[in-house]
Amino acid sequence: MSEAQLPLNGAVTGAGVAEWTPDSWRSKPVKQNPEYPDQKALAKSLSELKRLPPIVHPREIVKLKQHLRDVARGEAFLLQGGDCAELFDYCEQNAIESKIKLLLQMSLVLIWGADKRVVRIGRMAGQYAKPRSSPMETVDGKLVPSFRGDILNGFHADERDLDPGRLVRAYHHSSATLNYIRAAISSGIADLHRPLDWGLGHVRDPALKAKYSEAVNFLTEMLRFMHTVGADKTEKLDTVDLFTSHEGLLLEYEQSLTRLLDNPSHTPSPASTTKPKEYYNTSAHFLWIGDRTRQIDHAHVEFFRGIANPIGIKVGPTTPSADLLALLRTLNPSREEGKITLITRYGAAKVASLLPGHIRAVEDSEYARCVVWQCDPMHGNTQSVGGGIKTRAFSDIFSELQQTLRIHKDQGSYLGGVHLELTGDAVTECLGGSENLDEDDLSTNYTSFCDPRLNEKQALELAFLIADHYRC
Ligand code: PEP
Ligand code: MN
Repeated sequence: MSEAQLPLNGAVTGAGVAEWTPDSWRSKPVKQNPEYPDQKALAKSLSELKRLPPIVHPREIVKLKQHLRDVARGEAFLLQGGDCAELFDYCEQNAIESKIKLLLQMSLVLIWGADKRVVRIGRMAGQYAKPRSSPMETVDGKLVPSFRGDILNGFHADERDLDPGRLVRAYHHSSATLNYIRAAISSGIADLHRPLDWGLGHVRDPALKAKYSEAVNFLTEMLRFMHTVGADKTEKLDTVDLFTSHEGLLLEYEQSLTRLLDNPSHTPSPASTTKPKEYYNTSAHFLWIGDRTRQIDHAHVEFFRGIANPIGIKVGPTTPSADLLALLRTLNPSREEGKITLITRYGAAKVASLLPGHIRAVEDSEYARCVVWQCDPMHGNTQSVGGGIKTRAFSDIFSELQQTLRIHKDQGSYLGGVHLELTGDAVTECLGGSENLDEDDLSTNYTSFCDPRLNEKQALELAFLIADHYRC
């Protein structure tokens, strides 16, 4: 079916496929959905959200779609990163700036290594809802509801009741964060000629240090040269795009920010195949469906099939290949290139046995060269140490990434990007890396309220290692 024949919402008409509306998900079984006791307060929050303006604009969403089409074609690389659970408290200048700078710095290393443009997406400005494996947990000997992210309840044990007022607070924190991202970028935080702090003092291994120094010297020289010849004055080099993303978990919130808006790429002509208006989820540029909510006949997939945004699907050891194709056919019936990013997360021990089958299922189907393959080397590598501290070993993270790069090469497909949990701060949540953090170091600065993140040195090191893969 051509795009022109599709109904407005992108759903396939005919036997078995009902019409899509922003609330058609409500007729399906829904996982991880909150049961708010105070329905009146919920209705008040939702009606306020529906009135508030979009957080992102369709023009920006369409721009990201064009970038992701280039990634699917193997012409660009996608770097996506940020906190596992973003807190309202992270909405402050330093935390936002340090994440922007880290993503920029990593992307410079990747551009140098892969010799490709890098598309940047932050897990920022809205990553407030978390899926949980258990609804209750024990805190200080007391059984309390689990922390489900700042958009639902508070981390402190006495704030665990669901509070619909948090939906509106999430909107405002998301908007304030994105406002500052935009302000910082347009004011030159990303100027490539600014001296960057590459401090490699922590790298103990002399061979690694020599390798990283080579890259840093090259990049510093290149930036200096561009500054000397004035090449850094062009608009293209003075600013970078940074798009936002989060897991589209809380459908009440996502629905309220989904609007029928003009498609900026529509040109009114009889030959045009684009639709004049589409449903854009204006809460973020990119949204993904998590590992726990991607059931084909459930509410999240139903909601996602109607929005025009580019979307991600987490793919793991529990994803049958047949489901993968069913998801692509439901979520992207018109086979738009780059519309879907498959975010694979198996764990270092399982990736070699599972990824090739998933690649073949997609690349031997009508979706060949249509998706972005992205590696999330974090979520299959979580472990507990020393009485229940959640951590991840840098060596496992790197191993999954390295195996993923090699498997795609062997299969003739293209690994288009990485999806990382990281922070610009000097946290001690993941083991290893060139600082060689061990179990005793974890307590030094463990501040994550959910999954362990790479600190700025570990994240940069991973970028160096990916660059090294491409240059060898
Ligand atoms: C996450 O990205 O924080 C997450 C919960 O991942 P997954 O759905 O892959 O487990
Ligand atoms: Mn996580």
